[in-house]
Amino acid sequence: MQAKQAKEEIYRLVKLLNQYDYEYYVLNKPSVSDAEYDRLLQRLKELEREFPDLIPADSPTRRVSGKVQEGFSEVRHEIPMLSLENAFNFEELVDFFNYVHRNIEYHKPSFSVEYKFDGIACSLIYKNGYFELGSTRGDGFVGENVTENLRTIKSIPLSLKNVSSKRFEVRGEVVMFIEDFKKLNDKRIEEGLEPFRSPRNAASGSLRVLDTKITAGRNLKFYAYQAFGDEFKFQTHAEVIETLRNEGFLVSPLFEICTTPEQILSIYNSALENRNKLPFEVDGLVIKVNEIFLQERLGERSKSPRWAVAFKFPPCDAYTKVKDIIFQVGRTGAITPVCHFEPVILSGALISKATLHNTVELQKKGIMIGDTIIVRRQGDVIPYIVGVVTERRNGDEIDVQIPSLCPACGGNLIEFGNSGLRCLNLNCPAKLENYLIYIVSRDCLNIEGLGKKLIKKLLDAELVKDFTDIFFLKEDDLKKLYSVKDKLSNKLISEIKVKTQNIELWRFIKTLGIFHVGTETAKILADKFTAITNLEKATRDELMQIPGIGPETASAVVTFFNSETWHKWRQLIHDGIINVNEQKSSMSGELAGLNFVITGTLASMTRSVAKSRIEERGGKVLDTISSKVNYLIVGDKPGSKLNKARELGIQILTENEFLRMIS
Ligand code: NAD
Repeated sequence: MQAKQAKEEIYRLVKLLNQYDYEYYVLNKPSVSDAEYDRLLQRLKELEREFPDLIPADSPTRRVSGKVQEGFSEVRHEIPMLSLENAFNFEELVDFFNYVHRNIEYHKPSFSVEYKFDGIACSLIYKNGYFELGSTRGDGFVGENVTENLRTIKSIPLSLKNVSSKRFEVRGEVVMFIEDFKKLNDKRIEEGLEPFRSPRNAASGSLRVLDTKITAGRNLKFYAYQAFGDEFKFQTHAEVIETLRNEGFLVSPLFEICTTPEQILSIYNSALENRNKLPFEVDGLVIKVNEIFLQERLGERSKSPRWAVAFKFPPCDAYTKVKDIIFQVGRTGAITPVCHFEPVILSGALISKATLHNTVELQKKGIMIGDTIIVRRQGDVIPYIVGVVTERRNGDEIDVQIPSLCPACGGNLIEFGNSGLRCLNLNCPAKLENYLIYIVSRDCLNIEGLGKKLIKKLLDAELVKDFTDIFFLKEDDLKKLYSVKDKLSNKLISEIKVKTQNIELWRFIKTLGIFHVGTETAKILADKFTAITNLEKATRDELMQIPGIGPETASAVVTFFNSETWHKWRQLIHDGIINVNEQKSSMSGELAGLNFVITGTLASMTRSVAKSRIEERGGKVLDTISSKVNYLIVGDKPGSKLNKARELGIQILTENEFLRMIS
């Protein structure tokens, strides 16, 4: 490449990246994805390496990005707060190892591995053991004074237990949990405000505000990862983390010491697999030279330390273009908009569509065809649309036409408040098909062998015209479709017979498909009413007395038991076609009142069997470790829950100990 051409490209990239930095660090409103930003930065670095004379003074490769916002006083960092160099693949990690080894002569370093939190870096200064001054990273040299806002974060100790030195500095990341981010965005959408683009932007936007009450209400967390002090001479980074943990700081639940890149790769692979189970966002692992004297020997560049590297995960959000919005009819008649967009790879999977809750959400998000949208796939596997990048509109976008009639049957649609549009036609074929798919699914009657395709065939052949017809299917009916596969027909008919007898009450309640009644609510109702004949008679007031049941759910339950669908189910019970068990109240039982979490693979049973055994005895199985949990059952290859449980002092049970407990 010619110098003239390179110069033009370098200047174009510097201008663009500086603009993106401003949107990201100052406005908290990025208009491109992190992956796109990293790609452009990588290109700039390549050009600057080839043409070092052409590096502009304001190049983002030469400085830590970020600025002090108006309204905040400035805090000068005694030791600059730097960024990190990135390794995007194993080869680049090996390069980092080689670099370290080359520069420390004969010493044998060890390396720590911890999560790279995706939040906002902050420094906390403790004087004589008391928290006195807190600031953001800013441009690395000068940050914003956010002391009062940081004081509202409950995971920041206001005084230290063992450290009373004149000056002790703790550095770490302020993050917002994914759950809190989703709740905050739902609320913002409801209030007509623009949703935040990521938990990181939400954390930054919640901390860097002049009204402390806003920060206090956002449930932010602080994870500490660095410390130094006047009278302190830590030997290793592991010692730093241990000291911080003992002082009551939250620290990375993943923390390991390794010596080879291969060991790190194996931790990386399992961390990547478990990434979606974490309550907070991580965008990679941070690898640090563990010995502090070697860190000091390696020193720093202008923007990043030479003794650490961020081993980045592949991106889990993407910016893409909306191609179309298709309206589907669900089992309850709810009209669900499905947004089709240009395919993007998220967390290793190719995604080309995402479902919105309903037409209300579509209208609130204001999505138009041709819009650039942000799609995420973190925390849960299902992709969701964070919002529209309105800055990218060019006037060619087209409004979405919300249907006025049911797209499947042409029937009338009615608006159900915040739940959006619904088709009222009882005979709508799309409703019937989706209701059947739901009834036989794993969490409902769990009829194996009766999948979507067969249901479609049965409907097309008019062998099933109503949902009740599946319970009367005969082998001969199936043979008409199956022709040769006699064995399968026979198997399916007996499967239907088996699965419609002795149905657990909660499973049956879930199978009915009442609005707002998922597994958890079905279990609460089963526990409270113990028989379907009791639930059938429950009043709205009675239902609303139950913890966990809100007014919308209570109304939906009462409406359902007055519906034609329920009368059909009742007839099936009356005629003995299906049979529902009564439920022993879980308020009794030897595990009543106890909460369990399971991690790893159990040898003698699957996790769902273990769950049923606990629930049959009145216990509860939760998904995440918190102080509410009484026991963690640990199988083979446990996840990060084990460390977290240890941190919280939760009792750990091996599989055998658990079996003895329930025997
Ligand atoms: P960074 O966030 O990628 O990495 C450095 C930071 O990691 C440190 O400052 C520290 O705060 C943090 N960190 C988290 N866990 C840590 C741990 N355990 N130990 C040490 N540090 C830890 O770097 P950056 O300079 O803050 O931001 C650059 C990145 O931000 C880019 O790579 C890009 O992905 C993103 N960005 C995006 C846009 C956009 O428009 N989308 C614009 C600017 C930057």
